Amino acid sequence: LSEKLESAFKNLKGEARINDLNIANTVKDIRRALIDADVNFKIAKEFTDKVKDKAVGEKVINAISPGQLMVKIVQDELTELMGGSEAAFNVTGNPAVILIAGLQGSGKTTFTGKLASYLKTKKNKSPLLVAADVYRPAAIDQLTVLAGQVGVDIYSERENTDPVSIAQNAIKEAKAKNKNVVIIDTAGRLAVDEAMMTEVANIKQAVSPTEILFVVDSMTGQDAVNTAKAFNDRLDFTGVVLTKLDGDTRGGAALSIKYTVNKPIKFVSSGEKMDTLDVFYPDRMAQRILGMGDITTLVEKAQAQYDEAEAKKLEKKIRKNQFDFQDFLDQLQQIKKMGNLKDLMGMIPGVGKAIKDVDINDDAFKGIEAMIKSMTPYERSNPDVLNQERRMRIAKGSGKDMAEVNAFMKQFEQMKQMMKMMNNMPMGGRFPGMKR
Ligand code: GDP
Ligand code: MG
Repeated sequence: LSEKLESAFKNLKGEARINDLNIANTVKDIRRALIDADVNFKIAKEFTDKVKDKAVGEKVINAISPGQLMVKIVQDELTELMGGSEAAFNVTGNPAVILIAGLQGSGKTTFTGKLASYLKTKKNKSPLLVAADVYRPAAIDQLTVLAGQVGVDIYSERENTDPVSIAQNAIKEAKAKNKNVVIIDTAGRLAVDEAMMTEVANIKQAVSPTEILFVVDSMTGQDAVNTAKAFNDRLDFTGVVLTKLDGDTRGGAALSIKYTVNKPIKFVSSGEKMDTLDVFYPDRMAQRILGMGDITTLVEKAQAQYDEAEAKKLEKKIRKNQFDFQDFLDQLQQIKKMGNLKDLMGMIPGVGKAIKDVDINDDAFKGIEAMIKSMTPYERSNPDVLNQERRMRIAKGSGKDMAEVNAFMKQFEQMKQMMKMMNNMPMGGRFPGMKR
C-alpha cells in the first residue's frame, strides 16, 4: 500500500496548481483569448465570470490537474452557451418552406444551393429553389447555375417584381410537381434597412415558413451580432447559418450571436463548393474557439506558476523528516477528490502499466482516513507520541481493530523512512517538479 500511496503522492507533489491568486490571471487570459476570437467584450466578461464561479465551486484550485479541469469547464460552458447539442432542423410539411434571409454577400444564394444538395443527398428530399431576388437578374442566373450543379429544380419569374407573389407561386408549383421542400432565396442589401426588412417580413407573412434561416458572414465579427439582432427583432428567425468559416475567422461570432439573440446556429458553411455545408455542432465550435484563443496553453501556463510556497513547505517537512499524519491526510484528500484511485494513478506516466493488474481498493484509504481523523491535532503532527493507549482510542474511534492501527503505523513509519532515504540520494531524491 505504501508503495501505491507513494506513487500517487509523487504525482501530486509534481503537479502544478492554480491558486486563488493566479486564477484571477487565468480568467483574465481566457477573457482576452475570447475577445481575440471575436467574442463581444461584454459576453466574454459574463462568460469568464461564470467560468470562474464554476472553477472555484468545482475546486479547481485544489485539483490535481487544475489545468485540464479548467479547460474542461471552459469548453463545457462554451458548448452549453452555443446550444449544448446540435439543433433540430424541421423539414416536415408538404412542402416544407425554408426562407433564407441576410445581408447581401453574406452567402445566402450559395447556402441555398448547399442546403438543397444536403437535403437531396442526405435527407432524401426533392427541393425546389426559388429565386426571390427581383433586383439583380444576375441573382437568378447564379441560383440557376447552382441548381444545375446540385441537380435540383429552380423556380423563377423574370418579369415579376413582387417577391411575395413569386414565393406563393413557387409553392403552388412545388405542390404540382411533388417537391417536398421549397427554399426561398431572398434579396439582401449591404446594410440593414427598412425596405429589405419589410420585404422579407411580407414573404414570411405570405408563406408561413417552416424554418427561417438567417445567414451571416462569420468574418464580419462584431457587426454580425448587430445584424443578427436587427433581423431577429423583425423576423423572429428559427436558426442561424454561419458562413465563410473556411477563412481565418475565429468563430467568436457564433458565441456572440447565440448569446445575443438566443437562437440556435443550425448550419455552418465553409467554402464555395456545394458539398461544404455542415450541421453546427456546439462542441466542435467550442474547440475551435478554444484552439484559436489558445486557451489550453494559457491555462497550462497558469498551472505552471503554481503555489511554490506550499510545495516548499511540504518539501522542507519531508527533508527534516517532519512529514506527519496531517500532511498525509491532506494529500490523501487531494487524491480522493479526483475520484477513482486506480484511474488516477494510471494517468501517471509509467505507472499505468505497472498497476494494471493490481487491485487498488479505495476502501483501504477510507480506513486510513478514519484513523487519522480519530487522532487529535497534536497526535497528527507528532506521530511519535502514539503509544498503545492512544492507539487503542484511535482504533475505537475509527472502528478499526488494534492490528489494523498498528499495521498503519508501521506503514507510515516505512513511508517516512523511504522519504528519508530519498533525501539522502545523490539526486537529492527530488520529487518531479520539486525545486530546491
Ligand atoms: P448572397 O449575396 O447573400 O446571396 O451571397 P452569395 O451566396 O452570392 O455569396 C457571396 C460571396 O461569398 C460569393 O463569392 C460566394 O462564393 C462567397 N461565399 C459564400 N459562402 C461562402 C463560404 O462558406 N466560404 C467562402 N470562402 N466563400 C463563400
Ligand atoms: Mg444572393
